[in-house]
Amino acid sequence: TCSAPVAVAIDGADLPRGVGLSAAPGRPEDLFTHDGQITKSPIRAITLAALEPRRGALLWDIGGGSGSVSVEWGLAGGRAVTLEPRADRIAQITENIDRFGLAGRMTAVRGAAPEALEGLPDADAVFVGGGASAPLMELLWDRLRPGARLVANAVTLETESLLAHLQARHGGRLLRLDIAEAQPLGRMRGWTAARPVTQWSVTR
Ligand code: SAH
Repeated sequence: TCSAPVAVAIDGADLPRGVGLSAAPGRPEDLFTHDGQITKSPIRAITLAALEPRRGALLWDIGGGSGSVSVEWGLAGGRAVTLEPRADRIAQITENIDRFGLAGRMTAVRGAAPEALEGLPDADAVFVGGGASAPLMELLWDRLRPGARLVANAVTLETESLLAHLQARHGGRLLRLDIAEAQPLGRMRGWTAARPVTQWSVTR
């Protein structure tokens, strides 16, 4: 949406108080270049917490979209490979890599899972934000090494049902995230509900 570089406070001391990027994930959507397909900030905050970023850890972000999840993983000190089949979205991801100064730590890869995962270095965490299917989740489960985190968000009934089955088999935590935001309603305000997101997270 906007494309000026973001003031990233590496050392809080060199920016005035109240200026610069928040230190916590769930940063506002309008900081990112996106086309509307972006994980909304409250859901993104919960997603990053579930992924458990650590310095130097490698994330596979499957269904990169704008790359916002990878950006926040990178800002937390991790490295990310962001997989996305659409060329226009690869361009957004590349723009966001530049805006947040993450060129050394985040790579956009054009392609679809599961094919494009072949040859990637082993991940410490995988986020599935698009392209979830039974064969993909099966493959990820087999490929992940013990201790790795796997987090998948679903907005469709089909993917929700897949995640419910996976939790029955492998354990982990299944959350339903129902977020509503106050919006103008005539001269007053009312709650506008977002589509519920079902999130499965598990440690391999
Ligand atoms: N988390 C993203 C939004 C994801 S939208 C953000 O915050 O910006 C889901 C994305 O998954 C779409 O861009 C879609 O093109 C992509 N996608 C769909 N099928 C896929 C697959 N098989 N492999 C990788 N990406 C896929």
